[in-house]
Amino acid sequence: ATPAALVAGTGAGARAGILVRDIEALERAARINTVVFDKTGTLTAGRPALVAADALDGDSQRLVALAAAIERGSEHPLAHAVVEAAEGQGLDIPVAHDIRAVSGEGITGTVDGSRIAIGGVRLLTEIGAHTAPIEAMLARHAAEGRTAVAISEGRRAKGVLAFSDAARPNAAEAVRRLRDDGLEIVMLTGDSAEAAAPIARGVGIERVEAGARPADKLATIARLQAEGRVVAMVGDGINDAPALAAADIGVAMGGGADVALETAGIALLRPDLLLAPAALSLSRRTVATIR
Ligand code: ADP
Ligand code: MG
Repeated sequence: ATPAALVAGTGAGARAGILVRDIEALERAARINTVVFDKTGTLTAGRPALVAADALDGDSQRLVALAAAIERGSEHPLAHAVVEAAEGQGLDIPVAHDIRAVSGEGITGTVDGSRIAIGGVRLLTEIGAHTAPIEAMLARHAAEGRTAVAISEGRRAKGVLAFSDAARPNAAEAVRRLRDDGLEIVMLTGDSAEAAAPIARGVGIERVEAGARPADKLATIARLQAEGRVVAMVGDGINDAPALAAADIGVAMGGGADVALETAGIALLRPDLLLAPAALSLSRRTVATIR
């Protein structure tokens, strides 16, 4: 029962690309029986591509340019995809002011004096925009397993952007290893249930909770803990930070948001999902040697 064994354990972790915050984090990680994964940027590559821009007025270039103006200031994976698409198409991106991110819901900003919102139906509804004209578009993309976001200008819906976001190549293998270790696996995402389903199926996760805002993610962790589960949360985003902090052990994906890294007990230094099962088994082995 020597602290030296723990230190050796964390040293081996660091060499493998796993940073454990402290001894307590290592000990908690060894007792995990449930692993909750964020979807976007964690199970998926986090580099979604814009695959469709449906404008109600037919001007899809203006739609993408407007969206890029707002998203330029965001570090959300969808934001990168929008800006990349606008730049790739050589579009003139207008200047936006007063940009406000609503974690897990979307982002708003002002362009040419009108308020633009990009995100889920909930965000648009909250700011008083009429979403009825675009609901069929959203449903069609969701049915294809794409992540779709709505755009409004003032109270008018303008259109829909759709993204494809593939699962990371080794996500299914990471899930399989965790399950082989006897752990229960859950997907917890802010995205729609329709967009989450094909990803969950592809990586072999049966239990999915979708449409979860940051506070909902936190509540899910608390509920699992109340059921007696010892929970690891694996996430990459600002929207995951409350859940990462509340979990028995938070695991931050390499390449994720700074706040995710700061809140987590374990940081993966590379965006390699196999480091998640490796981190938990390293913790178990290290703690076993000292008992
Ligand atoms: P996940 O929980 O899978 O990582 P997020 O919580 O980051 O997903 O995002 C959930 C949903 O919130 C997205 O599918 C999108 O509808 C909306 N959203 C959040 N941030 C943005 C943004 N910057 N631009 C557009 N949509 C956003
Ligand atoms: Mg995420």
